Parts: sequence; structure tokens; C-alpha cells
Amino acid sequence: MLTIKQRQQNLKTYHYFYKGNIDGIVGNQTKTAYKNFQSYVGLAVDGIYGSNTNNKLILCIKDLQSQLNKFGYNLAVDGIVGNNTLNAIKDFQKKNGLVVDGIAGDKTFNKLNGSTPTPSNEPYKCKYFKDSDFACPCCGLNLQKDGSKRIADDIRDHFGKPAIITSGTRCAKHNKEVGGVAGSYHTTGNAIDIVVNGVSGSEVLAYCRQIVASGRARYTYGGTSQMGNATHIDTGGLE
Ligand SMILES: [Zn+2]
Ligand SMILES: [Zn+2]
Repeated sequence: MLTIKQRQQNLKTYHYFYKGNIDGIVGNQTKTAYKNFQSYVGLAVDGIYGSNTNNKLILCIKDLQSQLNKFGYNLAVDGIVGNNTLNAIKDFQKKNGLVVDGIAGDKTFNKLNGSTPTPSNEPYKCKYFKDSDFACPCCGLNLQKDGSKRIADDIRDHFGKPAIITSGTRCAKHNKEVGGVAGSYHTTGNAIDIVVNGVSGSEVLAYCRQIVASGRARYTYGGTSQMGNATHIDTGGLE
């Protein structure tokens, strides 16, 4: 478990969920920060800092540190905000014309995501998935686009657990059979449905919402038992 001071520092840096002093005291502002964070990442909102909240907070900071490292910083990806992480955020903000406050909020995340070193003309090769994972199960049609493949890797990376693409590309016939809407983004290879082993659909959905908020995807829904716990995310016409 992170110490209370470290939780406060992490939650201050991450979207400014904690707005008080780093004093190691669990008062109202700290409890509010726990709740806002829990709600943001799709955990049960009880204001109690248990192991799920702890693990998730570490994971979110690790993501932030890895994102920064893509821009040439050399941070230890340990999920703990210390001076090196704060300085990297500030330096990144300065170089990108943002307010230099060391707080990674939406604007900083948008820059981190939006200016990701862009790809060459080579088709994207997934780190974790085979091409066949995205093919239509009835006929093998595979139109899967790079943007949605990157998102699949991103989700797999974020949770650090094996994930299954329950639906990628669908031919029109298969789309009809599974009750997909006509012209579903699955028929153009712009959508995936994904399940992460040992992670609730609502947590996957919450992370997918962050991806949508960052502008890399158009829409997400699901994560419910009707969807077999799968979460749908698509890039729509963004690629
Ligand atoms: Zn098919
Ligand atoms: Zn879907």
C-alpha cells in the first residue's frame, strides 16, 4: 500500500483529484479524492482506500510515466510520483505550451496521447494479438484497422493481464447473425469487443472511456453481462 502522503501526491498529480496539502492526514479532501478517483476509473465508489484502489492508482501513474518516457524522459515506471516524475511533467508542459503546474490533467494527457510519435507506413504489428484474433469467425475476413489494434494493445498493457478480442472484423452476414446494427463499425474493421481476464467489464469500460476522452476512439459501451462482460470500443471515422 502507498503511504497516505504518497496517495495524496499521486492523486494531486493525477487529474488534481486531491486538492489539499500533502500532510499524511485522511481528512475530507482526501476522502473526496479517493471517491473521485474511484468513480473516474470505474471502481466501487466508497471512499475507502483498499487494495483495488491502491493497485489502480499505481497503474494509472505507471501509464503516465510510460507515456512520458515515449517523449524521451527516463523515468522509473514504478507508479510513484516523485521529483523526477513531477519535473518530467513540468518540462513536457513547458515544451507543449501548457500551464506548467506539474499536474497531469486532461490537457496534458491530450498532448501526451495526441502527439504520440506517429507511425510510419508500415502496418501496425500488435504486441499481444495475432492478426487472426481480429478475423471474422465465419469466413476469416480481416479488415481490422491499425487504430483499433493499437487500442487493443493499449488496453492489454494498461491492465497487464491477458485479454481476448471477442469480436473484431465481421462480414455483413456474421454481423447480422450476432445482432449487430447494420453498418456497425465491426464491418469496417474499426471496432473491437474485448474482455480482460480477471478484470470487471466496468473497469475496462472506464479505461475505454479515458481512451475516447483522449480522442483516439469515437465511442465505447458495454462491459455488462448482456455483452458477456465484453467492452466495445471503436474508432469510427477517425482513421
Ligand atoms: Zn464472416
Ligand atoms: Zn462491438
